[in-house]
Amino acid sequence: MFDFENKIVVITGGTRGIGLETVRIFSEHNAKVILFGSREETVFKAIDELSKEGKQVEGYYPNLNNYDEIEKTIKEIISNYGKIDILINNAGISANKKIEDTTSEDFVNIMNLNVNAIFNMVKAVVPYMKEQKEGVILNTSSMVSIYGQPSGVGYPASKFAVNGITKSLARELAPFNIRVNAVAPGVIKTDMVASLKEDMIKPLINTIPLGRIGMPRDIANAFLFLASDMASYITGVILQVDGAARN
Ligand code: NAD
Repeated sequence: MFDFENKIVVITGGTRGIGLETVRIFSEHNAKVILFGSREETVFKAIDELSKEGKQVEGYYPNLNNYDEIEKTIKEIISNYGKIDILINNAGISANKKIEDTTSEDFVNIMNLNVNAIFNMVKAVVPYMKEQKEGVILNTSSMVSIYGQPSGVGYPASKFAVNGITKSLARELAPFNIRVNAVAPGVIKTDMVASLKEDMIKPLINTIPLGRIGMPRDIANAFLFLASDMASYITGVILQVDGAARN
């Protein structure tokens, strides 16, 4: 049903968790996937793991807060492949400290990766998508972008901003046939959740009406759909993929 043959996909935060699973699913559907990670070591570890599964992907590790580095990397990808069809801004960090314990540096760090890095990536990629008169930009938001959370104010603040970027760019870029959407995951079983003890996981599951924690594949599926032609009239949407969790 979904075929991404000849499509070039760039995914930030592609070395583990939701991002790595998203790299997998696009690879399985014949896309050429280029993953970005924070460090050489983790990028090569992910590429190695994927190659053992028979998936050939490439990787880069530009500093997402350095526009010049990003621009150089995007130029290199364009010179190799001629285009970027799909950009998935997935890299992100979370926070859970109370306001008294949060330093202004903590707050700035989270904004830098979760918000400013998306701005940098989009700014570097959009001129090429405009030239192509086609493109898809997808962002990873969070259920905290709907409800906030009781500590770690920087994280929901950043994800509200992700939604703002998504809805605004959807309107700005629609005339160029560039669609912009976000996926807002609930509690997903990445390394952080997987390491929680059974007695912590059970009460968490009780807050999720569908009765289970989400898997990275649940989010990857949503990205695949939103990137596909099946979603060709969908733009500016924040798709909640959270089992109806309302935390
Ligand atoms: P993860 O920690 O497993 O992966 C994070 C990814 O971001 C990694 O690939 C890492 O290389 C990259 N990254 C981290 N810091 C970076 C930096 N400074 N520069 C460049 N890349 C960096 O996290 P995850 O749970 O897979 O989260 C992925 C996205 O999903 C994030 O945006 C997160 O906010 C969002 N999210 C996750 C959950 C969840 O329950 N796991 C829920 C809602 C939203």
